Amino acid sequence: MSIDRLLAGIDPVVARILDDALDGRELSSDDALRLLRAEGADHHALVRAADLARADDKGDDVTFVVNRNMNFTNVCYVGCSFCGFSRHKDDADAFDHPMEVLVEKTRDAVARGATEVCIQGGIHPNKDHTHYREILETVKDAFPDVHIHAFSPEEIDFGHKKSGMELADYLRWLVDAGLGTMPGTAAEILDDEVRGVVSPRKLGKERWVEIVTTAHSIGLPSTSTLMYGHIESPRHVAEHLGLLRDIQKATGGFTEFVPLGFIHEKNILFNHMDARPGSSMLEDVGLVAVARLFLRPWITNIQVSWVKMGPKLAQMGLMAGANDFGGTLMEESISRESGADFGENLPPEEIRRLVREVGRTPVERSTTYQTLRRFDDPEKDPPSREPTSEPELSGPTRWRLAEERKAGQARH
Ligand code: SF4
Repeated sequence: MSIDRLLAGIDPVVARILDDALDGRELSSDDALRLLRAEGADHHALVRAADLARADDKGDDVTFVVNRNMNFTNVCYVGCSFCGFSRHKDDADAFDHPMEVLVEKTRDAVARGATEVCIQGGIHPNKDHTHYREILETVKDAFPDVHIHAFSPEEIDFGHKKSGMELADYLRWLVDAGLGTMPGTAAEILDDEVRGVVSPRKLGKERWVEIVTTAHSIGLPSTSTLMYGHIESPRHVAEHLGLLRDIQKATGGFTEFVPLGFIHEKNILFNHMDARPGSSMLEDVGLVAVARLFLRPWITNIQVSWVKMGPKLAQMGLMAGANDFGGTLMEESISRESGADFGENLPPEEIRRLVREVGRTPVERSTTYQTLRRFDDPEKDPPSREPTSEPELSGPTRWRLAEERKAGQARH
């Protein structure tokens, strides 16, 4: 047995592609496709190469953001087949939070050290563009320093059409009210044939690209995402990554790439439309690695989603090219309602522990990747700021929630 045997097991084409990537040569979509199909020794080599590339690109720091997810309504009429979150407005468990609930949730988040709130909701038929602006103004009025990361391109599309404004003007109007960055969600797979099955009434590929590139052009950054493990092929994934890279070359507006595994248990796409039951571990880890090698040097922040992967597989992702652990979230409804069972809150001390377990250094960042705090020495870690009970709601908010419950609505 020798090291030669280990190296000899790697397909020469895969070896050439990995060599190109480590040498800084840009990979083609066909290269990405070959890597996405890697198995056995090829997969091991892919993961190792991506880990080396990560060390070159980002060093040993693993960043994370202390944030809170807030879904202001689960009422939505878009009807995506992969969604287990949306409700009809008359459903017993539909909710539509009043502004004071968003303020109270932000207050609780800030008390727990959050620098960001991530706000997204369903497409509520009775709302219009003014609702999005009111959310921003309300949260910003109460907490001027908190960064608002909000509104998917689907929500922007809906609000923009109601507004009658030019798209760039509409986005500026939201930025003026406090919008800091935009989630690059609603991307799923940027291929209209796939979208025709997973989200037939959602915005199409061209419109997604138009909204994201317009946002970038006015100085509004966004994340970039991909949802995989359902009906897509590796070719769709490779082309999706190619499109994101092209956008980034043109705008430089993506802060990171986040692969999001399909959660299958509680939705139509899996139960009635023959989708796969999510991704395998090999796909999860392999996609992180391919993203690192294919997107460099254009998008160099590759995030693992602990909500989708679970903390332990997310640690594996950190060893396969990822350099960012995402956020604490504090609450998470969209994955949970589709059947994810990895929890809704990962406190900063847990993230620090998980990062250190794989031999790396936790670093708290802002939404736009400014370093806020390094945690080089575990002995100097701050104490937990997790609450021991539900956030305290003010009298009027408590009363309003009680009234909602009586009316058949439930707080999520
Ligand atoms: S994924 Fe979003 S747009 Fe689609 S049904 Fe669910 S909440 Fe609505």
